[in-house]
Amino acid sequence: MPSFHLTETGKKLVTFIPGDGIGAEVTGSTRKIIEATGAPIAWEDREAGESVFKQGLPSGVPQDTIDSIKKTKIALKGPLGTPIGFGEKSANVTLRKLFETYGNIRPVRTLPGVPTPFSNKAIDLVVVRENVEDLYAGIEYMQTPGVAEALKLISRKGCEKIVRLGFELARAEGRKKVHCATKSNIMKMTEGTLKRTFEAIAPEYPEIESTHIIVDNCAHQLVRSPEWFEVIIMTNMNGDILSDMTSGLIGGLGWAPSANLGTDYAIFEAVHGSAPKYKGKNTINPTAVIFAGVMMLRRLEEFAAAAAIENSVIYTLEEGKFRTRDVMGDAGACSTTQWTDAIIANLGKKPSRAFVRDYKPIQMPQVAPAPDFVKVQSRKVAGVDVYVEWAGTVDALGQGLEAAVAGSPFKLHMVSSRGTKLYPGGSAITDTVDAFTGRFMKQDGGDTSDAEVLDLLARVSGKARWSHVEKLNVFDGALGYTKAQGED
Ligand code: NAP
Repeated sequence: MPSFHLTETGKKLVTFIPGDGIGAEVTGSTRKIIEATGAPIAWEDREAGESVFKQGLPSGVPQDTIDSIKKTKIALKGPLGTPIGFGEKSANVTLRKLFETYGNIRPVRTLPGVPTPFSNKAIDLVVVRENVEDLYAGIEYMQTPGVAEALKLISRKGCEKIVRLGFELARAEGRKKVHCATKSNIMKMTEGTLKRTFEAIAPEYPEIESTHIIVDNCAHQLVRSPEWFEVIIMTNMNGDILSDMTSGLIGGLGWAPSANLGTDYAIFEAVHGSAPKYKGKNTINPTAVIFAGVMMLRRLEEFAAAAAIENSVIYTLEEGKFRTRDVMGDAGACSTTQWTDAIIANLGKKPSRAFVRDYKPIQMPQVAPAPDFVKVQSRKVAGVDVYVEWAGTVDALGQGLEAAVAGSPFKLHMVSSRGTKLYPGGSAITDTVDAFTGRFMKQDGGDTSDAEVLDLLARVSGKARWSHVEKLNVFDGALGYTKAQGED
């Protein structure tokens, strides 16, 4: 069931966040157009972003904005900037995470009157990007003064949600094909979890053709034959990068909307940022947020108003009297307000070719809420990886670690650096850094206790500074860790 808050007068309440830079212009245009349709929408004005950071709030999102979204369950927002020197986390990411809007939906379509090198292609696709996990969780560490690390966390539960959402979106929009693009050939555990989840769930949607594609090939095919694709499911970073590219295919960021969908909450915005150099100039193209407003109206089950706006934008483009600066350049371009007024004037008109799909409400997936989403029958810790800082030779480190664990339950299996085995008898690497990993395996092949791990760390710290430890889990007999290049 869609979630929204009805006011006493029967209107659907939306939290309205103008945002930074060009935000007030693009969201203002959208609000004016939505109001002109007569859709029963009421607005609750709230702040987030630069002004809030500058008041000293490090999240950039004040409590009354959070409270408003908790109540309305729907927000329309402009882009938010993170001013340098104020807070280190993006207010956008904070909002997405606070409301667990795990699915980022980014549709693009070939538009009449917006010339691109791809204008002869019938592009009509949606990137479904996972929105809260992956490298964008922003969990980073310095392992040594010169070596940085980021954790790419991908959960089976998160994959299940995004995959089901991708298929449900395809169903709601009457689409026939869903791709899943991953880098599972290299990242077998993280990206591989998305691929395996996709392959497990796809048979539940037999009417939809499902295909896995390696994400780099997907990028290549998106440029060669973008018309092949209908829905593409991706992890967070891949989806971020490729959805900016798909925006470019249809004429740029001025045309690319985005919906952040969660089970209960939804936040609608443009793909683009605050483009500060255009602030207040009345020259920016507001269509990306206008299309985000169309997606919002569909979430609110205001299908007629959504179709009216979408049709009017396409009619206005076909009519060709007004063109925004990103299409025309500076000469002859209309202003943001002229574009907005033209769309309002054309509400009720239909473009020459059908543009609006027969949309149905998206059935948001319901997955089991248990935190331990995947349960196993058997588990053991077969050994431990200990990350150490070492500026000497690899042989000296390997021999030192072997000596350190002599007489313990562990044996040094290998030393690696940046995923390549170097000791014993490793590859002839020509340039090393000061971050190494000692892989210690339990000699008897059994389980490792925490006390044994702590003893191991005490032994290793007598030889080298350690920064980080990973248990080598084996779940239901399957290795829960990857092998280094060159490791047997
Ligand atoms: P940006 O604001 O998206 O702008 C990059 C360029 O895209 C602009 O210079 C302009 O290109 C074009 N563009 C963007 N919006 C347009 C529109 N509505 N109409 C026409 N062209 C448009 O990216 P940025 O400069 O990298 O980021 C600026 C700030 O926005 C940063 O603080 C960033 O963190 C933030 N940001 C926020 C969000 C969000 O709130 N979701 C998303 C991305 C970035 P031309 O110069 O070629 O005209």
